[in-house]
Amino acid sequence: MAAARRDGRWIGFVPTMGALHVAHISLIEAAKRDDTFVVVSIFVNPTQFGPNEDFKNYPRDETADLVTCRRANVDLVFIPPVEEMYPPESATAVHVSRLTETLCGVGRPGHFDGVTTVVTKLLNIVQPDSAYFGQKDAQQLAVIRRMVRDLNMPIEILDCPTVREADGLAVSSRNVCLNKSQREQATCLYRALNEAKTLIKSGQTDGVAVVDAMRQIIEDADQTSIEYISVVDPASMQPVKRIERRVLIALAARIGKTRLIDNLQVDPRSRLG
Ligand code: AMP
Repeated sequence: MAAARRDGRWIGFVPTMGALHVAHISLIEAAKRDDTFVVVSIFVNPTQFGPNEDFKNYPRDETADLVTCRRANVDLVFIPPVEEMYPPESATAVHVSRLTETLCGVGRPGHFDGVTTVVTKLLNIVQPDSAYFGQKDAQQLAVIRRMVRDLNMPIEILDCPTVREADGLAVSSRNVCLNKSQREQATCLYRALNEAKTLIKSGQTDGVAVVDAMRQIIEDADQTSIEYISVVDPASMQPVKRIERRVLIALAARIGKTRLIDNLQVDPRSRLG
């Protein structure tokens, strides 16, 4: 990497938790398209999981990940051990306020502190010029953008569109945890988001009515339990009552035991998105 930097190459960074899939590859390809020296990190970050969450059972497959990285022409893969990232006596964390207090921040206290702390550490280690994140984790993206701006980190944060399966389910490392029938039920999430889009595009401005329609679709599917469905301002992540400009529709739900999130941005004034 030092040689690449000396040669004036731009360093592009894709942080991941491994179990790499097509969406991760889309981030790598975006970094490649920008002609960067591409660094991928694989680190299942313990501090962003709550005590009753799936840290232990989070899918891991380092061998397959290395093959994926090689095929995608990644220039460097960084796989730090937990003890190296969090030596004993670690006493520092990064906290972003407000943006982290809605949506996933409600049901996962401390989650975003884990994310912002580990992303800061990874950015400090790798020192990239640009870092690539997926729109699927819209709140995470907004939090990281704010952190990088607030802490004057000289890094360009770039976002990539959500990659979906043919039936609309957002690709996720956790999808492998779904059994066959849960996988079928999981399509309700994207159907609910699309219903919200249709309603808003046909003139519905009441945020509560949109959420209620989505709730109905998800509750009608088996083995689902909703954590939140919310229509928020994409910059502040605060709920929107009257939908008059671009909004983020975000949701988290469990299908069986597997927690999935998804979102869609909708602009009532635009004929496109
Ligand atoms: P993860 O390994 O799940 O922590 O994700 C690593 C990066 O990949 C994050 O920036 C995610 O937002 C992004 N990502 C994960 N799934 C998707 C998806 N379906 N579409 C786009 N980006 C994704």
